[in-house]
Order: sequence, then C-alpha cells, then structure tokens
Amino acid sequence: MHSRRLVLRFSKEIVDKPIITNLVRHYNLNFNILKAQIFPRKEGMLVMELQGSMPDFEKGIRYLEEVGVAVEPVGQGIRRDEEKCYQCGSCTAVCPTGALHVKRPEMEVLFDSELCSACELCVKTCTVRAMIVTFDRTLA
Ligand code: SF4
Ligand code: SF4
Repeated sequence: MHSRRLVLRFSKEIVDKPIITNLVRHYNLNFNILKAQIFPRKEGMLVMELQGSMPDFEKGIRYLEEVGVAVEPVGQGIRRDEEKCYQCGSCTAVCPTGALHVKRPEMEVLFDSELCSACELCVKTCTVRAMIVTFDRTLA
C-alpha cells in the first residue's frame, strides 16, 4: 500500500467539482483529510493523506493533474529556518506525527518534512518563528 501526504490546490473554477469523490470511485484510493480550506467560488486547498496501490495512486495523481488540481508533497509547504532554530526542542512536544523529533543521544532536534501533517502546532509553539509554512498560499 502506497501512502503519501499531499497538498491539493483547486482553482475557483473547479473547487465545487466532485474530484475527490472520483478518486475513491474510479481510482480505488482511500484518503484522510488533514486540513481543508474550501469555500464556494474561491480557490481551495486540501491537505490529505492518500493511500492505494502504486498503479492506482499514479493514475489518481494523473487524473488530479488532468482536471487542473495542483498537487505537491506536504514537505514543500513547510520548512525550518536553520539560522533561527536554536534546538530548544519545544516543538517536539507538540508535533503529533514525529516530523519534529529528538535524535538521541546527540539530543539534536531533527525535522522530517515527509512526516508532517500540516497541523501547524509547531509554528505556534516556536518562540523564534523558525517553522515557516506556506500551505495557505493561493494558486499562482
Ligand atoms: S521550537 Fe523552534 S527553536 Fe525550538 S527546536 Fe523547534 S524549531 Fe527549533
Ligand atoms: S506542522 Fe509542525 S507540528 Fe504539525 S506535523 Fe508538521 S512539523 Fe509536526
């Protein structure tokens, strides 16, 4: 089973189409929505975990791109400013997925953007604003 966390961006022309339903119906994929900003006649954004066999997954992504959905890995929407981060570890206490975690015995705070669920709890917790998210940016 292949599983990935993705950011899907919808233009206002397609935001009300049953695109996600089609992913389940026609491509045999399962999804878990982690974050949604969808409003009628406005650009929309979904962060979701998408699961299925690799062939189904690839066909589903192709379908999304054909209908005009911009698809990108969650990791592209978050980064850590390494200049600002002073390795305090506070963010590891709130990160629900282990994307931010402490490597022992070095006690180094590591960030694996592939594990991120886009909850943004680390952004609120980091006092020096080292965690930077761009999930909410609009379509170019
Ligand atoms: S809370 Fe901020 S400064 Fe502390 S380890 Fe996390 S990213 Fe770095
Ligand atoms: S947004 Fe921050 S706290 Fe939330 S899963 Fe991603 S790295 Fe962890």
